[in-house]
Amino acid sequence: MAYRNIVKIGDSILDKKSRKIEEFDERLHVLLDDMAETMYKENGAGLAAVQVGVLKRVFVADVGEGLIELVNPEIIEFEGIQEEQEGCLSVPGEYGITSRPATVKVKGQNRQGKWFVYKAEGLKARCFCHEIDHLDGVLFTKRVIRKSNEEIE
Ligand code: ZN
Repeated sequence: MAYRNIVKIGDSILDKKSRKIEEFDERLHVLLDDMAETMYKENGAGLAAVQVGVLKRVFVADVGEGLIELVNPEIIEFEGIQEEQEGCLSVPGEYGITSRPATVKVKGQNRQGKWFVYKAEGLKARCFCHEIDHLDGVLFTKRVIRKSNEEIE
């Protein structure tokens, strides 16, 4: 595994749409391993491939329940609203209250290409929405409804 540098706001790659994964090969596995290492080293709750400069539809997340890897994720259902604080490893030092669904159902593949459906609520739902936004070139700053300057987490 290897640490990869995190792309920061201002780099136009963060505005680009990521491409679907077609090959569930060694290259994907190395990418996922590196992304997990990078996320843990930076104390993040989630990291999308574009944040390490790779325009592929994958993200890793850990909201305190263990590592989740999602390939080609898609929100298939969402319900309710939550307004909580968010931050992003690509937007250091900036936090804000965003509006997100309270619960989501996300369909995605694992590193072998097998499909799963994940149900998420609270922080996990927020995290999934945040990471899927990254895959469409959207930063959380576009979802901020109120500014907040301190890290609460
Ligand atoms: Zn982010």
